[in-house]
This record gives sequence, structure tokens and C-alpha cells, in this order.
Amino acid sequence: MSLAADKAKERLIKLGIKVAESGLVVGAWGNLSYRVLKDDAVVITPSGMDYHRITVRDMVVVDMDGQVREGEGRPSTELALHLAVYRARPDVLCVIHTHSPYASALAVLRKPIPPILEDVAAVIGGEVPVTEYAAPGSRHLAVSVARVLEKVNAVLLANHGVVGVGQTPEEAFQVCQLVERAAQVYILATAVAPPVVLSEEEVARLRKAYQTTYGQKEGVKE
Ligand SMILES: [Zn+2]
Repeated sequence: MSLAADKAKERLIKLGIKVAESGLVVGAWGNLSYRVLKDDAVVITPSGMDYHRITVRDMVVVDMDGQVREGEGRPSTELALHLAVYRARPDVLCVIHTHSPYASALAVLRKPIPPILEDVAAVIGGEVPVTEYAAPGSRHLAVSVARVLEKVNAVLLANHGVVGVGQTPEEAFQVCQLVERAAQVYILATAVAPPVVLSEEEVARLRKAYQTTYGQKEGVKE
């Protein structure tokens, strides 16, 4: 496999450890992938492995139809979801699925996170919606997640967790962290009074300013 795929595997292994250590996932739950444009392929974490134990050989490389090209592990059970997102969002190079607790609490309540924080508006692009419930690993879940992510960079999966995307692994990780923080702030604020939501115009302004400043992201394009 190419140097680009090898680099993608290494970055994803490091990111998986960061995601696990930040408490966004527990044990082997959740999954991460990285698109390698040059190879028209996706590197994805193996199914059911502790993030601290995953090696380069365990990482799975699949083509855009999900056929395994390389790797000793089985691809994550959410492979169809990751591929559906890449098809819907050609600008996205990294997809992270987490089970972070505050965001999952809102996913259980099936309550979207309104744009109440400026960084969420800037990086995620607006309200974090909730998909209708669909079984983990199902085609139905993949389709509904990809549809929602056409407009924003994060989504809550009903009674399940979070999917965050980015133009780099770092940005996707930041998105997942922001979703968790926003969920926490929303729940805390709601305990006092209904939070004030940013206007659509302000959300659009913040998003545009972010894209102008941070728009040129690097990725594994070699
Ligand atoms: Zn999950």
C-alpha cells in the first residue's frame, strides 16, 4: 500500500488513543476513519479492538465500495456509515464516531443541540441535529447520517452517540470535543433557564469567518 495510506494509519492510531483518553469513547466502542484521496481508499479502525492495542497491521484499508484491500483486522461495523459520509461530503477527510456521555444523553432524549456557543456555530456550522433511530451498523443509519451531514459537521445518533467530521483528523477530533462540551453546557444552562440561541445570521457570520480563516486545511493528499 502507498506511503499516504501508511501515514494515514499512523495518524489514526495516535488519534484513536487521544479520543479514548479524552473520554469520548469507552473500551473499544466508537470508530475512526481517514480518507486517502490518492488511493481512492479509506483507512478505518478494526472492529472491537482497544485503542491502545491497535497496530498498523490491524488497521483496515478499504476501497470506496467497502472491499478490504489490506489489514489483518475486520473493519469497524460502522464501515457503511463512514463510506456514506465520504460520498456525501467530498471535502471531508476524517470521520469519528464517539459515545461521549453528555451528547449521548441528548441523543437518548432525541434533542438537538441548538447553536448556543460561538465555537460550535463556527466549527460545526449550526445546530447539531438528531437522526431518527436506526440499528447500529445498518444501511438505514448510514443513509440518514450522511444526509444530515450534508449541512453540518456533526450529528447525534438517536439512542446511540455522535458522528463528527473534519477536513483533517485534528478538526474531526475538535468537532467531537465541541459537541460534547456544547451538550454539557446546554444541559447545565437548561437547568437554570432556557438558553438564548444564536440567530441564524450570527451563526452564518461565525461560520463564514471560521472558514475564511481556517479554510485551507491540509490532508493526506500525496
Ligand atoms: Zn456506536
